[in-house]
Amino acid sequence: MTIQSVNPVTGKVIKSYKEHSWEQIDKKIATTQTAWLKWQNSSFAERASLLKKTSALLIQRKEKLAALMAIEMGKPIKDGIAEIEKCASVCDYYADNGETFLKDELIKTEAVKSYVSFRPLGIVLAIMPWNFPYWQLFRFLAPALMAGNCGVLKHASNVSGCALSIEQIIKDAGFPANVFQVLLINSRVVKQVIAHRHIKAVTLTGSTEAGMQVAQQAAQQLKKSVLELGGSDPYLILADADLELAADVCAQSRLINNGQSCIAAKRFIVVKKVEKEFVRLFKNKMAARITGDPFDADTNLGPMSRLDLRDDLHERVKENIKAGAKCILGGQIPDFKGRHAYYTPTILTGIKKGMPAYEEEIFGPVALVISAKDTDDAVKIANDTPFGLGAAVFTKDGSLGEQVAKTHLNAGSCFVNSLVKSDPRLPFGGINQSGYGRELGLFGIREFVNIKTVYIK
Ligand code: NAP
Repeated sequence: MTIQSVNPVTGKVIKSYKEHSWEQIDKKIATTQTAWLKWQNSSFAERASLLKKTSALLIQRKEKLAALMAIEMGKPIKDGIAEIEKCASVCDYYADNGETFLKDELIKTEAVKSYVSFRPLGIVLAIMPWNFPYWQLFRFLAPALMAGNCGVLKHASNVSGCALSIEQIIKDAGFPANVFQVLLINSRVVKQVIAHRHIKAVTLTGSTEAGMQVAQQAAQQLKKSVLELGGSDPYLILADADLELAADVCAQSRLINNGQSCIAAKRFIVVKKVEKEFVRLFKNKMAARITGDPFDADTNLGPMSRLDLRDDLHERVKENIKAGAKCILGGQIPDFKGRHAYYTPTILTGIKKGMPAYEEEIFGPVALVISAKDTDDAVKIANDTPFGLGAAVFTKDGSLGEQVAKTHLNAGSCFVNSLVKSDPRLPFGGINQSGYGRELGLFGIREFVNIKTVYIK
């Protein structure tokens, strides 16, 4: 069986990779286990120094790595470079802070000495998506290695080239052999990998459907899981919002990564009083995007990452129009030649409860506008979702914005007058069907550790 990388601009196969057999997988996990037995006792200083080297290599190779993303999943080259720079920053962040985050914590008891020590667990299986092929992996891997864990990666099937380039970077940075390895496998084999005796935990970034299956498989083995899943982030535009700012940020957030980001703005919940003006401004911003070749420096909207995903998105747009939504921009496959995966920026207005898009995640450059009577109604609609990843609110009233973000919206990250974004310093993750557990910051590095009590009488 082979795994193929296909260029979403041309539809042509870039490379085919032979899937690893079970014997190969077992051997890779066994060699990573051998590596871990030593790595678990490496010093923080050694880990930090290797992460700093990784960061430097990422910066050195950023153009090459961005080009690989452009051909494997269509990310515009300048966005690819920014993604690699962010990966370097998360390596630096954990190199600088990891030791402090994992320092023993003394707890006074009647013992001579009692404390908590954060010890590594072993090998963590990482299952990752194609949309940020480097960032999603590094935000797991940098803290995992800093904590003394090892990793094996099952990357999305369309970005095997990116996966193997990460394995090479870790090798070239000077990490001990096999602390991190790539498994070229189909998702059908994941259950068997999770059950492997040397796999101690699993982290998945991907769809809610995949998360549910992996959570069940991990639970059957009593292995810890962290799940970073889908979202349908609401952006609330209140009556006193700065509409120019809101329209600009909303278009930026909806179209980030060609519309394929878990924390992209997906539902635009606009208070009736300002809806007409917001929609006018928002439409202009969405329409102004330059769609083109990811290698062209002017391009700020590339193709979707796969033809089948684009075709599925178009079907869903048509289905919602049939259900009563009004398409005021796009809704079409652009008339470029060849088997490309482009889709035009699209706005559907008049989205209401009962329509498919009200409940589901729309993963592509399609914005959903929902009308709200007032602030309370906007909050009610925002929370009327199975997801809970991110949310944003736009208002000139700072204290109202903070109150809505802090206490009213049900999501893992709530921003005021800004787009939702991940940052190495801040915890990131969702609630409800957007998953559980956290990545990044202090909380991220403590997900895959044994919080060990040591008691000395
Ligand atoms: P996906 O289809 O769930 O795939 C993600 C990864 O899981 C891939 O490596 C995939 O492998 C694997 N996979 C799929 N089904 C599986 C199963 N049943 N068992 C084990 N592994 C399985 O998601 P995607 O289409 O790549 O990414 C888009 C989704 O990811 C969206 O829902 C988005 O919101 C979510 N996402 C969430 C975050 C977050 O931080 N919360 C970040 C990025 C993306 P194959 O490629 O071989 O199928």
